[in-house]
Amino acid sequence: MKYKIQFSNRILGFLLGLCFLTGCEKVVPLATDDFYRFDKLNKLSIKKPAQIDYFLGTDNVRIPLNVTAYDQQGKVIDTPQEVVSFYSNNVKISGETFSVDKEGNFAIVGKLAGQVSDTIFIRVWDPASLTLSLSVLDSSNAFYANGTDTLKFKVDVMKENRIVDIKFPYNLFVNGKEQTSETFSTTVPGTYKFQAKGLGISSNELTINVLPKTTYAVVRLPVIFHEINTTILTADRIRKLTEDMTRAYRNQYNLNQAQKDPNAEDLFVEFYPAEIGLDGNRLSAPGLHRTSSPKTSFTSADAYSDSFNSFWDPANYLNIWVYPNITGDYANSSWAYYPNVTVPMDGLPTSLEGTKPFYPYGIFLNGNHVSINYEGGRTEEILAHEAGHALGLFHVFDGNNTNFNTCTSVDPDYCFDTPYYNRNNYASNTDPTQRYKRISCAGVAYISTNFMDYYYTENNSFTTEQMKRVRHTINYGLWLPSPRNGSRSGRKNGRSSLVERPADLRYIEPVICSMR
Ligand SMILES: [Zn+2]
Repeated sequence: MKYKIQFSNRILGFLLGLCFLTGCEKVVPLATDDFYRFDKLNKLSIKKPAQIDYFLGTDNVRIPLNVTAYDQQGKVIDTPQEVVSFYSNNVKISGETFSVDKEGNFAIVGKLAGQVSDTIFIRVWDPASLTLSLSVLDSSNAFYANGTDTLKFKVDVMKENRIVDIKFPYNLFVNGKEQTSETFSTTVPGTYKFQAKGLGISSNELTINVLPKTTYAVVRLPVIFHEINTTILTADRIRKLTEDMTRAYRNQYNLNQAQKDPNAEDLFVEFYPAEIGLDGNRLSAPGLHRTSSPKTSFTSADAYSDSFNSFWDPANYLNIWVYPNITGDYANSSWAYYPNVTVPMDGLPTSLEGTKPFYPYGIFLNGNHVSINYEGGRTEEILAHEAGHALGLFHVFDGNNTNFNTCTSVDPDYCFDTPYYNRNNYASNTDPTQRYKRISCAGVAYISTNFMDYYYTENNSFTTEQMKRVRHTINYGLWLPSPRNGSRSGRKNGRSSLVERPADLRYIEPVICSMR
């Protein structure tokens, strides 16, 4: 009651003020609307409501209406809302609120002293007159239970068979259970039923068959480290290194606990220290063979030639030579040789079945890279990278060692799901906070996660396309300790042999990986 009186006084004062300004002689109780036309009222602006769409049965609210009046100078005129008349679809509303109580589209304006505000639109829907249509976006691809394939849904709200543009509160239900997310991914294959529900109405039900993740027979590759003139490695260290290589290839290595590539895959390749030596006896230190060379330092050509003194039959072993004191262009690099395949694959040499090794197919680990945490990557990460080359993978960027090319039109690693970038541009950015960031040749910013990139990379992902290349090498690569070459998980019975040095041995350049 008190409030009302105060308010009336305020209006009265307001009217008197107008009279003072306009020079009227007596207070005439005109309708308040009429007074403004005598003043400098220039514009009315109606406040936008927080939302446009309201639902009967849920949103039984009164929406406060509010108009601001401006004079010709654009100054706000103090305007009690009682003096404004509000109209909904040209019908006067009693009071200063809009009641959500019947379905329809409502155009609302405020009027004052002959001025009309701009219009706000409020839509009131009866949920009983709406239907929900649930569909999947990009449904062309098969959906796999790999934890990374993601279904994105679209819910259309329909009224009389037409889509209406409306924000509708709904939840997604999967096999009857409410989801918190609007997307769906899973590691469990099977048949899933999806439905959207909200405000008491349910959408159509979608049934989606989630396929089992692509799996392959696990291939276990026995590894032999040949330490030339060095005694750094131990059986324990080799076991740990091969375990970490296995983690990398089983999609489990993630030292930084960083986000993986969305296409990160398990390659079903494992590594373990070779247990049997060339003579058919157990190695005293699994995976380790020490030998000496009269040379004390090695160019890449020296190592190339020398490796044939300890090139164990690659059908039984993945050879990793550890050379100390590398000199020349490779001083800070490790390197590897690509495989030869019997069935062609982009970028790889092809040879006929039965071709004998004519280059030291395997990995050359720089003695400097055996320390536990080298700046350009940990030893196990360097080995996972070099094994990637030996299994048919290229650098994700165009180049090797310290020579990089600019963006080319051809994808340098033949894998469309690994972005490539201009390594020269990357190297010129010395901001330490940008180390893991790349700008792809397509102009997209991303974080480097791939094992086949150089530092700095999160080193936690091989992608689907890389998996296909590695599995092609497993299936068609010569000289690998793989099932196709008679190795049953590397446990071939009996003696093995050294690879005979070709009489006409020619130097073949490897893929070189600079670690600074
Ligand atoms: Zn490399």
